[in-house]
Amino acid sequence: MPWIPRGLREGIVTSRYPRRPDGYGDGFSGTLVVRSAPAPAGNLDTAIAGCPTGAITRGDGRVRLDRGRCILCGRCTVACPEVFRFDPSVEVSTTSRQTLFVPEVDEDDQALEAARSELHRRVRALRRSIHVRHLDAGSDGSEEWEVAALTNPVYDVQRLGIYFTASPKHADVLLVTGVGAAGMLDPLRHTYEVMPHPKVVIAAGTDAISGGLIGTGYASLGGVSDVVPVDVFVPGSPPTPFGLLHGILSAVGLLSPAGSKRSLALARRDADGPASPEDPPVEAGP
Ligand code: SF4
Repeated sequence: MPWIPRGLREGIVTSRYPRRPDGYGDGFSGTLVVRSAPAPAGNLDTAIAGCPTGAITRGDGRVRLDRGRCILCGRCTVACPEVFRFDPSVEVSTTSRQTLFVPEVDEDDQALEAARSELHRRVRALRRSIHVRHLDAGSDGSEEWEVAALTNPVYDVQRLGIYFTASPKHADVLLVTGVGAAGMLDPLRHTYEVMPHPKVVIAAGTDAISGGLIGTGYASLGGVSDVVPVDVFVPGSPPTPFGLLHGILSAVGLLSPAGSKRSLALARRDADGPASPEDPPVEAGP
């Protein structure tokens, strides 16, 4: 039984996230940020021209990044490091496609707040435990590795009352990965239709949001939001397990999505009583 001394030696490896921030370290490429810094002539043009998904645009003298298209390849950080750099934050899921643009596209605050309130009201019954149906709608397989990692001893999502189910009839949350491959559109639609109310849809990964590197074509819809109503967008290619966890907890109202004016607050913490004194408050993502 070599695992007994090993277990005793290594202690508890399970993350305390989201009670405690538990990132991957300063050098981790969690998301891409845009700085308004002067850059040598030509560097920016090279970065824009070299982006394989067209995630960078320029207009009105501003550079705009669409995180819903970015696959985190890092080419722009090499071509124009003055403007583009990686950030370790993984808490980047949002309830609005528009808030994936950096700097943000102007959006009617009232409309955004109304959408969030509607989601909040809809998922009120899902606070105790939730069942997630994962559906691969044409993924390259990378997202599946990260989704599978959620159940390992490090992330251990069962500790938060999150369970994966094979049957959509038992599911509260539909977690969709993949570009929206033509052959998967009917199964995706059918899966959504047979889920009981209330139900929430998460587009997990850049592919599910915009088609990513594949984009739109005869075999790809370029994202799944035209087939099912997406409530939460989790950018990343693939998103990390913490990123997925942030998306799932945002979807059921236990965390605030990125871009929310409200600081990240755990409704579960409120429900369970005060956290331990060594648990610092969790701060919002970028
Ligand atoms: S990191 Fe994102 S924005 Fe930069 S070149 Fe790659 S896909 Fe484009």
